[in-house]
Amino acid sequence: MAENRVVQGRMVTPGRLAELIEGESVIDAEPIEDADRSCPDCDGDVLVVGYMPSALEFVTGWKCQECDWRRTDRE
Ligand SMILES: [Zn+2]
Repeated sequence: MAENRVVQGRMVTPGRLAELIEGESVIDAEPIEDADRSCPDCDGDVLVVGYMPSALEFVTGWKCQECDWRRTDRE
């Protein structure tokens, strides 16, 4: 279970983290990694996860472990 991480006090799987970033369910997610950046809102630690919201799209998403801040490479 080492791939699970704590986000805003909750243990999340890669798929659940991707859903928090995307705002809806995803079909696949890669292992969670530590991002080499800190949150612009609260300076907290940021996680990064690659995921597939659909079979035709691959997105890299970032999520703060402490607050609601999130971003994807679409933006
Ligand atoms: Zn934050």
